[in-house]
Amino acid sequence: MPRAADSSARVAVVGGGPAGLMAALVLAQARVAVDLFDAMPTLGRKFLVAGKGGLNLTHSDPPELFARRYGEHCARFLQMLGRFSPDHLRALAFGLGVETMVGSSGRVFPKDFKAAPFLRTLVQRLRDAGVRIHSRHRLVEIAAGPCLTFARADGTRIEHEASAAVLALGGGSWRITGSDGAWTAMLERSGVRVLPLQPANCAFAVRWSPQLLARAEGRPLKNLAVTTAGANALGELVVTRFGLEGNALYPLSAPLRSAIAARGRVTIRIDLKRELSQDEVRERLATGRGKKSTSEFLRRELRLAPPAIALMREGASPYELSDPARLAARVKSCPVELCGVAELDDAISSAGGVSFDAVDDHLMLRALPGVFVAGEMLDWEAPTGGYLLQGAFTTGFVAGHGALEFVKLKC
Ligand SMILES: Cc1cc2nc3c(=O)[nH]c(=O)nc-3n(C[C@H](O)[C@H](O)[C@H](O)COP(=O)(O)OP(=O)(O)OC[C@H]3O[C@@H](n4cnc5c(N)ncnc54)[C@H](O)[C@@H]3O)c2cc1C
Repeated sequence: MPRAADSSARVAVVGGGPAGLMAALVLAQARVAVDLFDAMPTLGRKFLVAGKGGLNLTHSDPPELFARRYGEHCARFLQMLGRFSPDHLRALAFGLGVETMVGSSGRVFPKDFKAAPFLRTLVQRLRDAGVRIHSRHRLVEIAAGPCLTFARADGTRIEHEASAAVLALGGGSWRITGSDGAWTAMLERSGVRVLPLQPANCAFAVRWSPQLLARAEGRPLKNLAVTTAGANALGELVVTRFGLEGNALYPLSAPLRSAIAARGRVTIRIDLKRELSQDEVRERLATGRGKKSTSEFLRRELRLAPPAIALMREGASPYELSDPARLAARVKSCPVELCGVAELDDAISSAGGVSFDAVDDHLMLRALPGVFVAGEMLDWEAPTGGYLLQGAFTTGFVAGHGALEFVKLKC
């Protein structure tokens, strides 16, 4: 790739996660000079953490279904994903020497399930293109111009004037990776509408009995369907001392959060035997248990695993456990009351952030012309499954192109 041209335009990209790296790549490939700043000593720390779980880079859903994962922002994402799609992300990975594959669930992973080779090659490509990387530079103020003020590790401050800026400062979870959400006050001071950062793809609190914990803690409950207020999700759950977590709850984060904020608690219904209808379950249980205990009966007739049986028994009356019809109803719709939401720092991602009302179609802040925003710092949320990284790369691409057009018009 050619080195950056000696044009007078210089774009500052702040945040070296997937969104910022993508924006820097777009600009560098167009031969615009780029300064990439990050508060941390190294780039892409949350991306590397995602790599520990195998790096679910994106998903093979068709476009309309993919865009629906972004909920109320579906239409906007459909349009942006048309510009940088899952196929484009896979092609980017391939160009970096990272081959990807589609798993049985439709999720897309690097063949070696690692994040480091992707990150290392991308950062090297940026350096080769002349991008100047400034680590340990924390953005603390931004003003029209744009003029950016950074605090350095030694306590000194520097001011940096740029032709345009892309901010990709991440959400508010896993602060240890650098995305601490501390930027919200800075943008609000500039008149940008920012919605409070909240936990998404997170655990929910349950007041478990000691008996339930003894039987089920840390043991996965597989092949479930969870329903709440008309929404449902399929997947797995794990019982923890705190409560419940897993991909059968993550897509329901938004309605569960709202219900708990409004009423302090919400009841979910868990279908513990998805592959059988309620009638089929009832038929199997109609034979009667004879001398068998409830647990033995459920294990034999329905092949329910011990943690699922423990969950069924939690809070059930003796009458419910002895009547086959009621028992069948409980297997298909086991109530669990959630009474709290995990801390933001413990969540996989965050909801809230810069309101889409505050940006134009190029993701430029209306209050700060020439300043673009991308990634998880924007107010969108999506379940796990590759939709988070795809959202970060796609918005980074759109913001990078926005900044490119902006500096071209300025020149
Ligand atoms: C445990 C875990 C596993 C995950 N697994 C997956 C997965 O498999 N698939 C998936 O799609 N998603 C996954 N995610 C989510 C995904 O990693 C994030 O959505 C994604 O990294 C967001 O990218 P971003 O560029 O918006 O922000 P980030 O990656 O958070 O990057 C933001 C950057 O901005 C820097 N920064 C912040 N504030 C400042 C400041 N004031 N000045 C300068 N720099 C600053 C930070 O240091 C950081 O480098 C996972 C997340 C976690 C926590």
